[in-house]
Amino acid sequence: MIHADADIAIIGSGFGGSVAALRAAEAGLRTVVFERGRRLDLQSERERRDVLLSRFTSGPAQVHSMPGLLALTGNALGGGSQIYTAVKMPPKPEIFDDQWPGDINWQSMQPWFERVRDVIQPQTVAQPFDRQRKLAAIANALNGHVEALPLAWSPPSQTQQSNITATDLHGQWQTWQAGGGKRPLTQTYLKRAEEEGAEVRCEAEVTFIESLPSGYRVHYRYRSNGACIDDSIRADKVVIAAGTLNTLRLLFRCRAAVDGLPNLSPALGRHFFTNGDMGAALWRGAGLPQADNGPLVTAWVDLWQHERMFLMETGRFPIVNASDRAPWLFGVMGDPPIDGAITFEKGRLRHRCERESVSVFHRRVSILMKRAAQAIDARSLVVPATVFNRRPVTVHPLGGARMANGPRDGVVDSHQQVFGYPGLYVLDGAAIPRQLGSPPSMTIAACAERAMAKMLEQGH
Ligand SMILES: Cc1cc2nc3c(=O)[nH]c(=O)nc-3n(C[C@H](O)[C@H](O)[C@H](O)COP(=O)(O)OP(=O)(O)OC[C@H]3O[C@@H](n4cnc5c(N)ncnc54)[C@H](O)[C@@H]3O)c2cc1C
Repeated sequence: MIHADADIAIIGSGFGGSVAALRAAEAGLRTVVFERGRRLDLQSERERRDVLLSRFTSGPAQVHSMPGLLALTGNALGGGSQIYTAVKMPPKPEIFDDQWPGDINWQSMQPWFERVRDVIQPQTVAQPFDRQRKLAAIANALNGHVEALPLAWSPPSQTQQSNITATDLHGQWQTWQAGGGKRPLTQTYLKRAEEEGAEVRCEAEVTFIESLPSGYRVHYRYRSNGACIDDSIRADKVVIAAGTLNTLRLLFRCRAAVDGLPNLSPALGRHFFTNGDMGAALWRGAGLPQADNGPLVTAWVDLWQHERMFLMETGRFPIVNASDRAPWLFGVMGDPPIDGAITFEKGRLRHRCERESVSVFHRRVSILMKRAAQAIDARSLVVPATVFNRRPVTVHPLGGARMANGPRDGVVDSHQQVFGYPGLYVLDGAAIPRQLGSPPSMTIAACAERAMAKMLEQGH
């Protein structure tokens, strides 16, 4: 069965997809969004806590386990915003000094960051939790400084706050909806997109993009009464925003087929980044902060000047029952010189990067975390070197279909239109041309705002 045409088909509803959906619908385009995950019911206890995963649709997160990489990404309406820690930070200005196309720089990006702030309205946490005091001691020892992080959230009312126990922290963080709590994209960009008339089809996974003499045919699969049904839709424009790894898989698959996108750049898969991600923890110490009922993340230690790195605290996550024994978790991010590549072999993605650079980065993080532990009289724990060297772990996969000045260096132009395929865009993390060293959702959304403005200005 062939459905009626759309002006624009959007694949994925994370940061790139949601921005595209709102701006296209606002401009009066017939907009269809395909999302392979579910529309989450945040009132349901099971859904709030279920970070268990399935390949097709059911969990809110997806684990990508492949040779050379382990990654975790969103898999629901709203993409990564349903499971992320909601930090909305642009990267450091010097990140824009290299690897970006000529017309993008720190200055020229400011209006687009502002546009995202207008919709998402990030705020820092005003209440000084014990965590910040302990972070200050660490920052002091490491010659850095503490920075409170802007979050996509609304502070809860006093009554809500006092009713929340630390062990229920994660569930509550996801669900304070009436008076406060995290605000996923379903409460901001996507909500407005649907109000503007965008049609959202959940549990619909796009499997192939066929290039037509004019426009594209988007093939997708959805579930109905337990059966998988294949269908397709024709669209003048297509935005691929399935999240870095899913976008790369789809592009590789389409490049391999003559009726797909056979002329995609040979640069596809090159310059893939794990954003300097590493998991770490401080534990077993009198100096650990008291468990509290604040958001998962409140602040980080900024070590950018000396180390090009951030130590972001992610709370004393209650993974053990007694919260006084819970470790204090950290997400480390940075800008190490690690430039990887994703390939597609026998239907499977594979990641390669230079082992030596990975080892050097691991040693640097281990030393810093040891010094952080000493500063508050605790012990440090980082992902063991053997694991990290063999399979880096990331929650911030970026690149592989990057923006560039020409198709020899990247897959899309500076407004994220695919070289050789007019009307086809990549608006998610895959198009980011270098690692950011900090949480990427703000930059992905700002670049999508910029690309959509250009697309709509050109007429449709
Ligand atoms: C635990 C965790 C914490 C994080 N914390 C932060 C943070 O605090 N701040 C920050 O900036 N970033 C954070 N991130 C990273 C952030 O979530 C991602 O960088 C961001 O979501 C990427 O946006 P995107 O548009 O590239 O794709 P995503 O947000 O990944 O969205 C892609 C969507 O496409 C859907 N999809 C995939 N394939 C298909 C298909 N074939 N057909 C239809 N739909 C498809 C997916 O289900 C998904 O919903 C975190 C990530 C994790 C996992």
